[in-house]
Amino acid sequence: MERLDNPIQRYAWGSTTAIPALLGQPPDGGPQAELWLGTHPSAPSKLRGGGTLEEFITQTPQRLLGDASFERFGARLPFLLKVLAAGQPLSLQAHPSLAQAQAGFAREEAAGIPLGAPQRNYKDTNHKPEIICALSEFQALCGFRKTKDSVRLLTALGLDTSVLERQGLRSFFEHVMTLPGEAQGGLVDQLVDAARGRPAPGYEKECQLVLRLAALYPRDIGIVGALLLNLVTLQPGEALYLGAGNLHAYLEGTGVELMANSDNVLRGGLTPKHVDVPELLSVLSFADGPPEVLRAVGGAEAIYVTPAPDFCLSRILLGEKSVTLRSRGAQLLLVVDGEVKVKGEVLKRGASVFIGADEGAVAVSGRGLVFRATAGIS
Ligand SMILES: [Zn+2]
Repeated sequence: MERLDNPIQRYAWGSTTAIPALLGQPPDGGPQAELWLGTHPSAPSKLRGGGTLEEFITQTPQRLLGDASFERFGARLPFLLKVLAAGQPLSLQAHPSLAQAQAGFAREEAAGIPLGAPQRNYKDTNHKPEIICALSEFQALCGFRKTKDSVRLLTALGLDTSVLERQGLRSFFEHVMTLPGEAQGGLVDQLVDAARGRPAPGYEKECQLVLRLAALYPRDIGIVGALLLNLVTLQPGEALYLGAGNLHAYLEGTGVELMANSDNVLRGGLTPKHVDVPELLSVLSFADGPPEVLRAVGGAEAIYVTPAPDFCLSRILLGEKSVTLRSRGAQLLLVVDGEVKVKGEVLKRGASVFIGADEGAVAVSGRGLVFRATAGIS
């Protein structure tokens, strides 16, 4: 078992207080958006004993990852665990499928776009399914609303919905997102005026969202895109799974996020980062309807069931009894509340460890809440 020191990503949208509070450190005034636990080359976790987790696993990958993971995903940790603390909305985005990521990566390599270039979409050849589990109340936009609900909402805000009604969601979304710049700005102005003037009855939340997004990203067409998505509020412990092509944006709150080890993001707006609408359109799913809110199932270790082979997220609520975690290959444990004991070591809130597959079953005791990340196969 190895104690980890994890890098913090200071993206501008980050909360200034949530991650310091988790780690028991004073806030430093700057945003702290994400804590990364894993081996992603751009920000790998470090071992307390020295070196990075990546270097450690590379020395004896099969022993540490376990046979099933090693055979399927090779000599690397297949997942990346994060604590995400959003003080402001993140970009409107979707992630590619495995086949799309491989093709996209090859295309950009052939075109000679450097890996670090801002306009580079595909940073690796992997897909990036993800699950976000709320630690605080967590607001997100996830997947398209039922089209008839979008028609009603946009009509209430005074927008022309004829393309949406006659030609459907895909055509409407493409039409709006590819309008010339001035027309996009005009459309957003119209929405902002409507939202400010008379909040449409029943759509107060959506009107607030328009005003909030417009204050951050004036005249950004992503605001129209955002209105077409389901507005979801998760309570602590509830989660959303986001598969390939799901259009989403996290708005506010703190959560534990687990994903395939990839950085492939296609953005449609609401960001100062690179936006590539044609590429986004090529991967989007236009399935509509409310997303499934996931709750963990099981006993002392409760699992969030998803179809992703790359990862499995579970939560362990510790009280009187100790809990034995069966081995599912390499694992990361993150204590988000209380104080627990693992292999004789006391871990306080904010502490995290890597445990290799070769260590077998692990007993956890104490009082607190622990999140566990493993591969989805074992
Ligand atoms: Zn995402």
